[in-house]
Amino acid sequence: MPDENKAIENTPEDQRNKTAREIPLHSLDARQLIEMDACTRCGECLTWCPVYDQDEKEEIIPRRKVIDFLRIAKAQQGFLTQIVRNRKISGSLRGMLQRVFKYREITEAEIDDFVKSLYECSTCGQCEVVCPAHIETVALWEELRRVIVEAGYGPLEVQKALVKSVKAFDNPWQQPRAARTKWARRAKKDGLIRELPREIKKSGGKVLLFFGCTAAYDVNVKQVAINTINILEALDVDYGILGAEEKCCSSVLLRMGDPEHKRVFKENIDLFNSLGIDTLISSCSGCFKTILQDYPRIAPLNFEVLHTVEYLARLLKNGGLKFKHPVDRTVTYHDPCHLGRATDGFQAPRMIMEAIPGLKLVEMPRNKEYSRCCGAGGGLKAGYPEIQNKMSRRRIREAEETGASDLVSCCPFCYQGLNIGIAASESQLVMKDLSSLVAESLLGYDVFQRAADEAAAKAEAKQAKKAEREKARAEKKAEKTAAKQKAKAPDTSADTSPAPPAETTVDAKAAKKAERERKRAEKRAARRKGKSAPKAAAAQPEPAAEADPAPLDDKAAKKAEKERKRAEKRAARRKKHAKSGEAPPETASPATEKPVTASDELDLKKAEKEKKRAEKRAVRRKKKVEKVDPIEPDAAKPAPEPAVEEKAKSPKKKLSPEEKKAAREKKRAEKRAAREKEKAKRRAHKG
Ligand code: SF4
Ligand code: SF4
Repeated sequence: MPDENKAIENTPEDQRNKTAREIPLHSLDARQLIEMDACTRCGECLTWCPVYDQDEKEEIIPRRKVIDFLRIAKAQQGFLTQIVRNRKISGSLRGMLQRVFKYREITEAEIDDFVKSLYECSTCGQCEVVCPAHIETVALWEELRRVIVEAGYGPLEVQKALVKSVKAFDNPWQQPRAARTKWARRAKKDGLIRELPREIKKSGGKVLLFFGCTAAYDVNVKQVAINTINILEALDVDYGILGAEEKCCSSVLLRMGDPEHKRVFKENIDLFNSLGIDTLISSCSGCFKTILQDYPRIAPLNFEVLHTVEYLARLLKNGGLKFKHPVDRTVTYHDPCHLGRATDGFQAPRMIMEAIPGLKLVEMPRNKEYSRCCGAGGGLKAGYPEIQNKMSRRRIREAEETGASDLVSCCPFCYQGLNIGIAASESQLVMKDLSSLVAESLLGYDVFQRAADEAAAKAEAKQAKKAEREKARAEKKAEKTAAKQKAKAPDTSADTSPAPPAETTVDAKAAKKAERERKRAEKRAARRKGKSAPKAAAAQPEPAAEADPAPLDDKAAKKAEKERKRAEKRAARRKKHAKSGEAPPETASPATEKPVTASDELDLKKAEKEKKRAEKRAVRRKKKVEKVDPIEPDAAKPAPEPAVEEKAKSPKKKLSPEEKKAAREKKRAEKRAAREKEKAKRRAHKG
């Protein structure tokens, strides 16, 4: 049973019905308690509240918030509560008083609901402007948030991340401290600023430019910081920045009700006061309002605090700022709550816009102290993004109705918040920070547009170079391919280079073929050499001339020798007959009785050469055979007689006319000699 009771006690519903922790009212300013009591419940704030305009819940309007808080305060710390909780009074009396006055404890659920309503507010201050009771609502909401947080309630879970980030990283964007000046390095690299902004601790300066976290960390809002730097450089202002040493102004902690804002305030005040500056300027309306109005509540400042547009307006007044270039545009202006309603900074931005040549300002119906809040401040964007989105779109609609092309403001927070509305409603409006119009008129160009143009030109030049390189590469490749093709097939590229002479090609081919033949012959010879054993040699059908066996060569040599001798004899006889003019002797054969001619002499020489060659070959063969197989030297097969073949193949010598005549004469002489011989035989036979 005890366990069951415990489980029942721990349900969310039981948790909500639990008696709430006490709100520390004693830390509230007495003036604020009186102001709450002074609320007439007129409802004027309801008419003007931009949040109620988008989310019509009775509990979020100032009147209801005041009523609810007072009820909580009375229930927790009222006179009746003091009696009911007094243990010195008897229980029966306390019970009776509770029944009579309908007393009951404030529950957790009631506090939770109040917290939700209290944080559904952008602290725009519109209710303060319209309140006939002159209740300082913004300060009141901030103080109520503080005591709520002190009691252990609030802020909303989603807003706690902002608070934690400021405490951990000195910025609400959960970015490292070292990244605070990253925008400047990037801007210089992109050509948006000429030099990195000077650090005041190193280079000194009478003006401290305080950027604020949104301008430093949000890349979408970089135009605020970049244009402010370009303006101060163009005007030769003796300024400096804190660089990485800059911390969040801590307005986030203040607006969320976190009491630690006092610590950060004090640290920043000490730092600023130590710099010896005359003026602190900021382009962020939230930072400006916090340093101007909230810091002095913690400690005095020894310098003047101005919004950048106020500083420029002062320069404009005393002649330190002269606009040179026209900015032909029609714009409408959105007053940031923290510059306009909070510090009465309505005139400075309008004075500057009116001084820029060509610029036309068209006001929205709700402007200056009645300017409709964009919803970006007070933690509303983090806690209720959908309400902020609606509020921003509503403001964009108003801006569009003016017919302006640009929507101008003076706060990175508004720049962010209004851009959400422009994107959500797909508006054609261009969001501008006033610093960009000032820079454009001073410099004569929009640094972002110029950088974009230069980047586009660079990219184009790079592309052109790349194309050029590609082209050159392609040409080289084509040349190489053509050269390769030419080398492979020279006859097909006759149009680009002269073809080699046909004979050269043929000769080269023939030479290659001859080389191949030679190699093949060498291989064959080597093979045959290896097979020159007697049995293998006997099987060889037709050995090469060089491999002719020795006996055949001997035979041929003998035959040639015989032929040579016969030819010598014939030649001698013919010589003799030719000298004497007589017929050759009868014993001589008709063949040998021929007269000696040049042809005969050539034949003799040829026969002599053949003989010698045959002799040499025979010697070589003999040696080879002896070397290979000295046991069976006669095993080789007979081969055809090379000398006879050579002779048969040798072409007939062409005779000259004289030689022909001599041959004819010779034949006739032979015939005559034959006839005479016949006659002589016949006579001898008769006789
Ligand atoms: S400060 Fe602005 S948002 Fe908050 S209650 Fe007042 S009018 Fe509404
Ligand atoms: S306008 Fe002022 S007095 Fe009137 S209801 Fe609102 S807070 Fe109260």
